[in-house]
Amino acid sequence: MAAVFLLLNDNPPAMLAAMTTLRLPIATQQAVMRCLRHYLALANAYLKVDYPEPKVSYQQRGTTAGTAHLSVWEIRLNSVLLIENGQQFIDEVVPHELAHLLVYKQFGRVAPHGQQWQWMMESVLGVSASRTHAFDVMSVQGKTFAYRCDCQTHALTVRRHNKIARKESEYRCRKCRQLLKPDIN
Ligand SMILES: [Zn+2]
Ligand SMILES: [Zn+2]
Repeated sequence: MAAVFLLLNDNPPAMLAAMTTLRLPIATQQAVMRCLRHYLALANAYLKVDYPEPKVSYQQRGTTAGTAHLSVWEIRLNSVLLIENGQQFIDEVVPHELAHLLVYKQFGRVAPHGQQWQWMMESVLGVSASRTHAFDVMSVQGKTFAYRCDCQTHALTVRRHNKIARKESEYRCRKCRQLLKPDIN
């Protein structure tokens, strides 16, 4: 029993991800599909094509909001971040990933966020072409270690923390350029 308890405590994000995948509300899935169909209809009309609806799955893991799988015409969404961020997530991530699929059909393999993708986002889908999503990823980040610089506290992943401990890497704050040191309190 002790071993099970330790394992659960050691890995809460994976547990959370597994549970929320099962409990993704139907209304949320419907909102995703509504958004997807809206933008797909815009693109089909603009491009005078009849691209089919991509498959949507909710298996995306880690801190990534979503990914587009070009050759299988599929969008994978992070169910944990989707549940936490709701409609804002849908409005940002669905057109972003759909644009990757559409660019692939229209132009083949090109730079992921290059001019074709930006054109697809802004001219065809009518949304702003920001490359990244700003969701709070704390709940899917896994265990972190606190480090400090001169200006803030940083949450480092286990992987980075281990690299520092083994003296394989050091990290600097992007803002103040100070070397990060373990936050001892
Ligand atoms: Zn992208
Ligand atoms: Zn700093």
